[in-house]
Amino acid sequence: MTDSKYVLVVEDIHKSFGETEVLRGVSFQVAKGETLVFIGPSGTGKSTLLRCVNQLTVPDRGKVWLNGEEVVHSHGKINLYRQKMGMVFQNFYLFDHLTALGNVEISLLKVKKMNKKEAKEKAMHELERVGMVQKANFYPAELSGGQAQRVSIARALAMDPEVMLFDEPTSALDPELTGEVLDVMKNLAQAGMTMLVVTHEMGFASSVANQILFLEDGIILERGSPEKIFYRPEFERTQRFLSKMT
Ligand code: ADP
Ligand code: MG
Repeated sequence: MTDSKYVLVVEDIHKSFGETEVLRGVSFQVAKGETLVFIGPSGTGKSTLLRCVNQLTVPDRGKVWLNGEEVVHSHGKINLYRQKMGMVFQNFYLFDHLTALGNVEISLLKVKKMNKKEAKEKAMHELERVGMVQKANFYPAELSGGQAQRVSIARALAMDPEVMLFDEPTSALDPELTGEVLDVMKNLAQAGMTMLVVTHEMGFASSVANQILFLEDGIILERGSPEKIFYRPEFERTQRFLSKMT
């Protein structure tokens, strides 16, 4: 259960909203440096699952372990835990009144309590990783969607997360801008980042995922290598979903 080869262990997560049982027992493990890609129809609980993993939503049942340590809900601990989970959303949620640099710096100053010089150095380093150094002093309104999303990735990276969680990071982007974001994510995966990604980008899934998990109706219907899921899915339901994707 707490096998140290896994960075993250998620066991039997259940979550209901009112009468609706959205997650009905989801379990998976992630080894260090692995990328897991979650696919599945809309409304099947993918976002809820990521939110349960980083504890933005408290699961009704089930457990999460990070590096062998069970995540518990004492107040200080949950904030520390959340800092170790870098979250990237479909809509970037940048602060409009701050530049790209300011958006990356702010948590370093407020949460990590770095001084101005340290925070700037660290933030510039993260902007460099996503190819956004040239736009450091631009405001979100002056950036394309792809650039804004890269800034939000830099902001998450700045906290030195153990795991990066991406919830449909390219779904709000014009098609011609998705590539630059997917490239950044691919580079991160290749550099050894541990990642959970919800996406409809099947090209990305097949080239980057160590494992693909097909979620339907609150359970993981099937999981496996891209090769298995794309070419030898067990369930007709998986096949039908994938045939609509391409
Ligand atoms: P997906 O990301 O796969 O599209 P979601 O996790 O966003 O699915 O949503 C799964 C279901 O849970 C949907 O029916 C959605 O309406 C419902 N849901 C999600 N969050 C809430 C919430 N905070 N309150 C009530 N219902 C919610
Ligand atoms: Mg979603």
